[in-house]
Amino acid sequence: MKNKKTINILLAEDDLANQELIKAFIEDYEWIMDIANTGNEALSYARENSYNIILMDIQMPELNGFDVTKKIREEEQLTKTHTPIIALTAYAMKNDREKCLNAGMDDYLSKPIDYDDFFEKLKKYTNVIL
Ligand code: MN
Repeated sequence: MKNKKTINILLAEDDLANQELIKAFIEDYEWIMDIANTGNEALSYARENSYNIILMDIQMPELNGFDVTKKIREEEQLTKTHTPIIALTAYAMKNDREKCLNAGMDDYLSKPIDYDDFFEKLKKYTNVIL
């Protein structure tokens, strides 16, 4: 994977405070971030655009993050692509990581989202230059 100067992010998150937090995290970078407020919106964005990474809340209206991820992974089988999906999880339970991975997510970040963890995952999964 080549290093990238800019990336496209999809943030699927219905909580405004978390949207604002992540916007603030990345405000110094000229990256593009689309924000989906519901599961269906997230799925539409993912179908219509190509993202370097998707940040996926679990609890969202219409479709939850697990279901959105499963659909994205199903559809990716046709195109043989794989967009990294990082769960944004409010739970700190032991089986969380397993549930996220079983749904097809690559990794997860626990809320409240830590600045350093956030950039560590972004760098790991997109090779973006920070
Ligand atoms: Mn939520």
